[in-house]
Amino acid sequence: MTAKLIKGTEIREKILNEVEEEVKKIKEEHGVVPGLVTILVGENPASISYVTLKIKTADRLGFNEVQDNQPEDISEEELLALIDKYNKDDAIHGILVQLPLPKHIDEKKILNAIDPDKDVDGFHPVNVGRLMIGGSEVRFPPCTPAGIQEMIVRSGVETEGAEVVVVGRSNIVGKPIANMMIQKGPGANSTVTVVHTRTKDLAGHCKRADILVVAAGVPGLVKPEWIKPGACVIDVGVNRVGEKISEKTGKKVAILKGDVDFDAAKEIAGSITPVPGGVGPMTITMLMKNTLKSLKFRLGIA
Ligand code: NAP
Repeated sequence: MTAKLIKGTEIREKILNEVEEEVKKIKEEHGVVPGLVTILVGENPASISYVTLKIKTADRLGFNEVQDNQPEDISEEELLALIDKYNKDDAIHGILVQLPLPKHIDEKKILNAIDPDKDVDGFHPVNVGRLMIGGSEVRFPPCTPAGIQEMIVRSGVETEGAEVVVVGRSNIVGKPIANMMIQKGPGANSTVTVVHTRTKDLAGHCKRADILVVAAGVPGLVKPEWIKPGACVIDVGVNRVGEKISEKTGKKVAILKGDVDFDAAKEIAGSITPVPGGVGPMTITMLMKNTLKSLKFRLGIA
């Protein structure tokens, strides 16, 4: 059996087109567009490339995109004042502070200073609480788990009554996706097990999964014999396992591998995400969707 590939790149295009259409409609009817500010402190090359991608995507969608670059030596007080300025700015609906921040700045203090109604990353404790309550309380589901859920639903996998096993319990992937899948409602209603490094029988739990979400950061952790035939496998892991020369650009690029032994797993699973090109492209996509949602909340049309 060869599994159906769940391609994040294709699903991303569909969602971005939907967002673009909605932005046009809201602009016509209400005369406003979503406003997203990206605050970048210092010149970390990885951060610059993430921020550039976010800006490009926001521009493509017709957002009001504000890029606020700050020097490495900005003080915590100055950064807090900047956040306060954007919290009060009615043209801004999403505030994004690119992490990591320099060591002299308390990241938690900065993230918690963002107005929860502009926290499109969904990391503020208020939004974590809203996600836990579920239903109409939810404002901004965190972007990677939201992308995972969209992939499961849009590829036609039944979640109702499904056994979902999540490998990993981080605050950004494992815990929120587990929480989202146990909620009452469409695209959820699952029975969820979360496993981690202290779990006694990792393989045994994985084998029961109709939907297996793996976010451990360990290349090839999940073996093909741990996969239930026909299961949906979502591999969140992005692990750099070496370097190669790109045929396209002639430049050195990282060789990326997921947490699942893909080549063997695709012969057993019913559907599976590749790495790269699976969950990866979904995160920025969902950030855009959350920013649009923030404007819709503001307009009372969410
Ligand atoms: P993390 O904070 O390091 O958490 C990893 C989790 O996996 C922990 O809960 C850990 O258990 C568990 N774990 C690690 N090794 C394990 C093992 N051998 N057996 C069972 N459980 C194990 O990682 P994260 O931030 O959630 O990220 C996980 C992976 O997803 C990484 O490869 C990351 O790069 C990738 N990721 C991708 C995206 C994206 O594509 N957009 C976004 C976020 C993350 P303990 O809690 O017991 O230590």
